[in-house]
Amino acid sequence: MNDYLIKATTLKGMVRAYAITSTNTVEEARRRQDTWATASAALGRTITISTMMGAMLKGDDSLTVKVEGNGPIGAIIADVNAHGNVRGYVSNPHVDFDLNDRGKLDVARAVGTEGSLSVVKDLGLKDYFTGQVPIVSGEISEDFTYYFVNSEQVPSAVGAGVLVNPDHTILAAGGFIVQVMPGADEEVIEQLEDRIQSFPAISSLIREGNSPEQILQRLFGDEEINFHEKMPVEFKCKCSKERFEKAIVGLGNDEIQQMIDEDHGAEAVCHFCNETYTFTETELENLKKNNEQ
Ligand SMILES: [Zn+2]
Repeated sequence: MNDYLIKATTLKGMVRAYAITSTNTVEEARRRQDTWATASAALGRTITISTMMGAMLKGDDSLTVKVEGNGPIGAIIADVNAHGNVRGYVSNPHVDFDLNDRGKLDVARAVGTEGSLSVVKDLGLKDYFTGQVPIVSGEISEDFTYYFVNSEQVPSAVGAGVLVNPDHTILAAGGFIVQVMPGADEEVIEQLEDRIQSFPAISSLIREGNSPEQILQRLFGDEEINFHEKMPVEFKCKCSKERFEKAIVGLGNDEIQQMIDEDHGAEAVCHFCNETYTFTETELENLKKNNEQ
């Protein structure tokens, strides 16, 4: 099954919901970054939730999430647009711990329980929205829940999970975001809280083959759900050799000459997708001329 997310409303329009399957997307991130199990779970949860946040944007808007705790993994970065394209990485991919006392990947230990979660939305025309909250658990989902409530003032429930195979590949990944619209009855909120409290682990539901629609159906029981938009989701980086060329040109001719003299070429690696771009001496000479024009 290809990854996708679904947007929906329910409970007479008072609740907005998103659900996603992201197994292949997280696997692609893992393959590119060579993350170990606990790091894969931390990156996978962040990517999964960020992709749903991207689906809340419009047109060419994009957003970048940074989770920076005091754990060994360092920073987790995810960058998404409004069309289901996501890319992401962690500072230290080779982080893996024993399962925690609940038998789960110990994401909080990898991320750390102190630090910050920040979101920068690029809304076009140099219009930016920035929100930042402290990390409250390091388990990622709870941290995003806290972010929505405190930074965006939208009561929300966020769930994301990743299951990893013994060979470190991704077995299942997915998540949901449920948001209560302004003016919703107190009764609706309480009912939702009860359902979410007793909801099974999202990663298990994905592993059992549940689609995003089925996950929301299960979450809202007999309530009527209006499904709005279905969006394919994939790991996709926007880097290119041209972008790195521009960056090299920006360094100035002295710097480029140094690369030619000392290294007889240059190599640039994209943080987000680990793609390597190589530049020959001749190519560097041409970039130098670019500066002279
Ligand atoms: Zn890239």
